[in-house]
Order: sequence, then structure tokens, then C-alpha cells
Amino acid sequence: MIYLDHNATTPMRPGVVEAMEPYWWKNAGNPASVHGAGRMALKGMDRARQQVADLVSVHPSQVVFVSGGTEANNLALFGQTGKHNFQGHVIISAIEHPSVMAPAMELKRRGMSVTIMEVDRNGRVDPMNLLGCLRDDTRLVSVMHANNETGVIQPIQDIANGCRAAGVPVHVDAVQTAGKLPLNFAELGVDMLSLSAHKLGGPKGVGALILNKSISLHPLVFGGGQERNRRSGTENLSGIVGFGAACMRVSRELMSEQKRLLSLRGELERGLKDTLPECVILGEGSRYRLPNTTGLLLPNMDGETLVMHLDLAGFAVSSGSACSSGRTEPSPVIRAMQVDPALAGSFIRISLGWTSTGEEVEKLLQALGRVVKKLQAMAFPP
Ligand code: PLP
Repeated sequence: MIYLDHNATTPMRPGVVEAMEPYWWKNAGNPASVHGAGRMALKGMDRARQQVADLVSVHPSQVVFVSGGTEANNLALFGQTGKHNFQGHVIISAIEHPSVMAPAMELKRRGMSVTIMEVDRNGRVDPMNLLGCLRDDTRLVSVMHANNETGVIQPIQDIANGCRAAGVPVHVDAVQTAGKLPLNFAELGVDMLSLSAHKLGGPKGVGALILNKSISLHPLVFGGGQERNRRSGTENLSGIVGFGAACMRVSRELMSEQKRLLSLRGELERGLKDTLPECVILGEGSRYRLPNTTGLLLPNMDGETLVMHLDLAGFAVSSGSACSSGRTEPSPVIRAMQVDPALAGSFIRISLGWTSTGEEVEKLLQALGRVVKKLQAMAFPP
């Protein structure tokens, strides 16, 4: 199987399993315990907290460990609005991941007013439009950093600067940018930032919400008061250690890997244009795009069918958000970009990662050419 679905999840990086292993048995104390075993566990967790903090250049006290990107996003939305008894107004974008979109819909059900910002044809939010929607009772603005389906990057700094001037906190879902682009929390100017370990070469089921020092949240989970009362429950110690190890490795290789992926994606996209001249690459030519992601539209094709045929040929790619696979409707993200409805259903995403090679890209191009020809022959028999 050639795996080209790294935005859905990416395999653990070398050294991560080894870093985690002692925390399953030898150092398996509870980090809250005062005895030696607890202290060993806490030492491992503190080191990991520093490694995660380093990835985004914050103080370790700003890192709240949670169960993944979904929980980080839920904590940001409910935690911030909970302080206001779920009263007032929230702004999100139309292309948010379901782990932001669904909490926002729940806030609406509870009586809050929710503005969903449209995006332009390139999949970007206009910061001026967004700032024009701020109200006196706006409690939170949540806009993702890079989209999981198209890789399009949002103008977060411009949004954050305007919101700061208006005194409105900003949350950014940076799950797809962490490990792919340099991230600096202070430079982004946001108040909360979500991370997920399994998108950057760590284990599944662990993530973090990074908080501005001045922000306090209404917790989602109540209990023993772990994570400075911001997220109760015994921490996922081995997962957190693996998360830290992955952050450290990703930081070391970030610049070279970014360059390598950009060049690999260039090869892929040039090959796509040669093999399938009718294809449309979303955001092609834009510099506001993740270096690893190609969102592709193929006229007269069905994305799901393409993905299934490529799977049979030994390739893993996606036809939309992995979290919503099984759904046959065109992706809401693609629809939000005002893609012609006749084309929207043909979307597939190819996302490269640290295991990807030029040889794999070459093989995919050949397989895609064959599969498209076969499907065309089936649809339009001679
Ligand atoms: N946010 C984005 C942009 C994502 O792509 C994902 C996962 O697909 C998530 C949040 C959810 O992260 P997790 O799988 O860790 O819950």
C-alpha cells in the first residue's frame, strides 16, 4: 500500500514508539502521585510539555494536554463561551473542520448567535469582511489555520490583529499546519491554538490546546483538577511523551522537510497536468497552501469511485475529510469555495508526508492515469 493520506493521519516518526515504551510499564506511575514512580512520570510529562511548547514557542504552562484536536477545538469553543453562560455571538468560517463546526452548531442550539463567514473561490476568508461582523457581544472568533481538504492557509495574523484591537479572543485550529509550517503562537497573535499529535508523527488520541497566559476557560471536563484545573483526568502519559518526541523530531527537520515536500508536490502536480490535462488543482499558483496537499477536481469523475479504484490498485488517498468518509455528498469545504456543483463531486485529496518519495508519486501518477481511463471507458463505452 502506498500511503498518500497524511492529512488524515501520518505514521509515527522514528524514535517516537521508543520514547513512549518505558511509560507503558517501567515509568508507568501517575504524574499526580508524590512517590518516586509518580515523580518519574511527571518528569517525562514535563519534558514532553516543554517539547510541545517549543514547537509553537510558548511557555510550558500555556500547554493544556487533551485527547486530540477534536477535544482541543471543543474546549476552545465551549470553554470560552461557557464563561459567558453561552450568551452572545461567535464567528467561525464556512470551511472549519467538523470539530469546530459541530460545537458552533451546538452553541447555536443553546441560543448563541453564530456567524459563518463565507470564503472566496480560493478558499480564503476576507479579514475585512470578518472584522466587519464583530459585535459588542462577540465572545470568540475561530478560524482554522490551514484547511485539511485543500491545504489553503488563512490570513490568521490579519484576523487576530483586528480582533485584538476590538478585544475579541481568537482561536485557531492549527492541527494541519503543526509540523508542516513553522508556528509561532505570539507571532500569530491568537489567544488559543489547537494541536493534534497524530497529524505530526505522534500517537493518536492526544493533543493540546495552547492558551494565551491571560485567558481563563470554563472547563469541559471536571474532576481532579489536572492540567491546572483546565482539563481534569489522569493524563495520557505515554501518548503525551510520544507527542513531545514527535514535536522535537518535527521541529528539527521542519525546514528541510518543507522544501522536500514542496518539490515532491511540484512533481506530482506537473505530472497530473501532463497525465490528466483536464484536471483542476485547487489553489494552484497560490502561495497560501500547505506544501504537502493537492486538492484535485477531475471532470466527469466521482471522487469516491476514484478513491475506491485507487485503493484496489494499492494507493490510499481521500475524497474529503477522513472523519466524514462514508458520506457521498460533495464536501462542504469544496461547496463553500463555489466550485461548480457538477465538478464538486469529483474532488480527491492527495496529501504527502514524511514517508513519501518521488517513486511513490511516479507510481501514483501511472495508476491514476490507468484508473481514469478505465472509468472513462466504463462511463462512455465505444
Ligand atoms: N482539525 C483539523 C483541521 C483536522 O484535520 C482534524 C482531523 O482530521 C481535527 C481537527 C481533529 O483532530 P483529532 O483527529 O486529533 O481529533
